[in-house]
Amino acid sequence: MADPSSPIRAEVRAIAPYNAGLTIDEVRRRHGIEVVAKLGSNENPNGPSPSVASSLSAIHDLARLYPDPSGRALAAEIAQRFGVETGQIVLGNGSEDLIAVICRSAVRPGDVVATLFPSFPLHEDYTTLMGGRIDRVVVKADLTVDVDALVEAVRRKPRLLLFSNPMNPVGAWLTPADLQRVIAAVDPETLVVVDEAYAEYAAGEDYPSAVDVLRATSLNWAVLRTFSKAYGLAGLRIGFGITSSATLCGFFDRARTPFNTNAVAQSAALAALADTAHLDHSVAMALAERDRIGQALFALGYKVAPSKCNFLFFDAGMDATVLAEALLARGVIVKPWKQPGFETFVRVSIGSPQENDHFLAALKVVRGR
Ligand SMILES: *Cc1c(COP(=O)(O)O)cnc(C)c1O
Repeated sequence: MADPSSPIRAEVRAIAPYNAGLTIDEVRRRHGIEVVAKLGSNENPNGPSPSVASSLSAIHDLARLYPDPSGRALAAEIAQRFGVETGQIVLGNGSEDLIAVICRSAVRPGDVVATLFPSFPLHEDYTTLMGGRIDRVVVKADLTVDVDALVEAVRRKPRLLLFSNPMNPVGAWLTPADLQRVIAAVDPETLVVVDEAYAEYAAGEDYPSAVDVLRATSLNWAVLRTFSKAYGLAGLRIGFGITSSATLCGFFDRARTPFNTNAVAQSAALAALADTAHLDHSVAMALAERDRIGQALFALGYKVAPSKCNFLFFDAGMDATVLAEALLARGVIVKPWKQPGFETFVRVSIGSPQENDHFLAALKVVRGR
């Protein structure tokens, strides 16, 4: 039989399979447990706004016709909210799609992409796929962002500066002053991409909107947002990018597939955007529960990273994969981190109060063994 790896590029072979974790059904089947707390993927336990379901009453035509390839209705609404032109908005099949599109557009073999570490794996994977090299800026011992080191990395003039703020998996963030400092050091040849998947949870005085900071520069930039987290639409796959210019955006359009976002997702996203009360409620619940669970973990003696997200990252003090397996057997899905230096860390999403209690109870049983 022919070697299946022989037609595959070395860059593809170099990537680890994406660690998406198990579905609720898989855990039920594997462990014979009915009640499963899925706390591995940072989904919103409240789900989307109820108005999303009513928007789908038009499913017949949404399904029958090709979608608007640039999602104009949704893009126009987003543009208005951010005070930019509609042509500066690009939609993605999830924001992960846009990470791929941007890497495909910008990263040449050998190019350096600077990012924060531990990192969102796809920031690294799509770089690797294009033959780029990663310059990792590791968090400090107290699990906050090493802003000095990030500024140094930026001064080395990477082709692409790509990081999430706040950071996944750590939850730490750059303050407005931090982000200003980093952006001020960026070379005009560097493309800046800030992934703001958790911006709705982080919003407040000590968290900067990167659009506001970058808009005041003459750099090329994109800021990525998603409907998967606070808006509760992870299953529909839709995210967007706000870019520095319609010209830059047009290049990203060429590098994506023409119908990358489907009609159902576009329609649902519009409905979700309009329901600010639902968003506010989901965020408030997540923040209150995050405080409660953070304090409980602290009281159990765990080192917990500061977080502006709907998850907590903590040092389990043991092989995180072993802990995650033991929790799984008790119906709790968490994410053991697998990057070098962080193999004892677990990321746990903030779910409903019941799911969070399920997690804490399981953790208390499992850690005693
Ligand atoms: C969850 C997440 C995304 C993407 O989610 P999509 O579902 O593809 O929109 C992107 N970046 C970070 C940092 C995330 O945590």
